[in-house]
Amino acid sequence: MKKYNVGIIGATGMVGQRLATLLDNHPWFNVTVLAASARSAGQKYSEAVSKRWAMTTPIPTAMENIVVLDALKDIDTITSQVDFVFCAVDMPKDETKALEEAYAKRECPVMSNNSAHRLYDDVPMIIPEINPEHAEIIHAQRKRLGTKRGFIAVKSNCSIQSYVPALHPLKEFGIKRVLACTYQAISGAGKTFERWPEMVDNLIPYIGGEEQKSEIEPLKVWGTIEGDKIVSNSDISITTQCLRVPVSDGHTAAVFVEFENKPTIEQIKERWAAFAGKPQQLELPHAPKQFLNYFEEPDRPQAKLDRDLEGGMAVSIGRLREDTQYDYKFVCLSHNTLRGAAGGGVLMAELLAAEGWFDR
Ligand code: NAP
Repeated sequence: MKKYNVGIIGATGMVGQRLATLLDNHPWFNVTVLAASARSAGQKYSEAVSKRWAMTTPIPTAMENIVVLDALKDIDTITSQVDFVFCAVDMPKDETKALEEAYAKRECPVMSNNSAHRLYDDVPMIIPEINPEHAEIIHAQRKRLGTKRGFIAVKSNCSIQSYVPALHPLKEFGIKRVLACTYQAISGAGKTFERWPEMVDNLIPYIGGEEQKSEIEPLKVWGTIEGDKIVSNSDISITTQCLRVPVSDGHTAAVFVEFENKPTIEQIKERWAAFAGKPQQLELPHAPKQFLNYFEEPDRPQAKLDRDLEGGMAVSIGRLREDTQYDYKFVCLSHNTLRGAAGGGVLMAELLAAEGWFDR
């Protein structure tokens, strides 16, 4: 595989730091540019993140001395030095949208962790094991943007990355209704306990905009390409409640599901065990070997014990049993800044690289 030079836009933030650690010594991607806001620009990366490095591993040595560029002012320099960028910025939605489009229009593909472009019907929102075929919509997006090479691909919200993978192999039984309550870690808000002491011994029953994303985004992921649009699935009805809980990393979901043709417990477990997608077939560098992992122990999955399974890229499931109102209920867990954010973005980029989307 050819090596690609890549940039991280928002490199100083929580997701940006994760991207930096995941891309350190990546076999295909070589980080040549780190960018953030004007507040960080001009400083060495090690200085810019010194007081807020939140990873358990040290700042990658190869990136310590890279001088952080200004994502907006230095856009021409950045796009001339990289083959594509990862983008994870905390900016108002319209500014994020303008920033990502400006990169794409300079023929620099954008792997976005942000929500600004998620619901555009010609922007693929890819969970690589589930809807890799949505990449084909890039042709239509390029026509709209007037680009030859540039495009934007997004990863979905972190909240849906446990229950959508768990439900996906069960679609053959006709999923009718889903109720999911999510219990979301504080890193999902870009926070640690040091920076958010109010979360110790606490639960906040509100995460702005999260329930809407958690109900709408799965339907786009399960949508189909029709002409120059991704048309969302309209057969499945989803309702959610999203709570912030005092957990550092790892989003858990309690899920209830009703089917057209109710499968047996054995059939569900068999589908989970057998499920593999394109990342597994292509053996992408960040693909977990076993994506869906069922625990028979009644007290699993647990955030602290199971979030790092397969480098935080696998999904853990447990407590599958019949329900009195729906057909079944179960609990699932995924690492929100790995599978749910930076790792999911890296895996999406690996898929698109393997399929040649950065070469055309
Ligand atoms: P964060 O820790 O607050 O970091 C924000 C980053 O954006 C920093 O690098 C910051 O640079 C940069 N930034 C802010 N304003 C900017 C501007 N005007 N121009 C250029 N860069 C600017 O946020 P985060 O948690 O990493 O989240 C980043 C994005 O990922 C958000 O869209 C978030 O919704 C999404 N996301 C997060 C998670 C998660 O689990 N945390 C999961 C999925 C998606 P400075 O340091 O210079 O201010």
